[in-house]
Amino acid sequence: MSQSDYDPDNIFARILDGRLPSQPVDQDEQTFSFADINPQAPQHHLVIPRGAYTDLTDFADRASDSELAAWVRALARVAKTSGVAKEGYRVIVNIGGHGGQEVPHLHGHVLGGAPLGPMLTRR
Ligand code: AMP
Repeated sequence: MSQSDYDPDNIFARILDGRLPSQPVDQDEQTFSFADINPQAPQHHLVIPRGAYTDLTDFADRASDSELAAWVRALARVAKTSGVAKEGYRVIVNIGGHGGQEVPHLHGHVLGGAPLGPMLTRR
């Protein structure tokens, strides 16, 4: 994966540069976090790096240590500020086709606010 594989017009790229609206909940120099448009739990937010990374594999390959740390810290910060950290929450990162990733810009889902049930629903 290289930056040339990144689609600069994907939905989250458009949210990052203001072409699309969002409901921000947290941001810093390297990350941006916002409400999921189709929440799967009482609290459901997405945490993305500002850099152009397609997925977690790409991020681990190319991001700086500073970007990696900022994203992990943002995931935990959003859990705290959205009020789910104390009772427990789940972070999901979908990657590629089998992972069910729909938007090709790395994002972590932070879900909580109620018991979330089994990790995976068996097919
Ligand atoms: P994934 O299947 O892991 O790629 O998740 C993509 C997520 O992006 C889904 O949970 C969608 O509901 C969410 N989503 C898609 N478009 C938007 C948008 N414009 N604003 C906020 N969340 C979005």
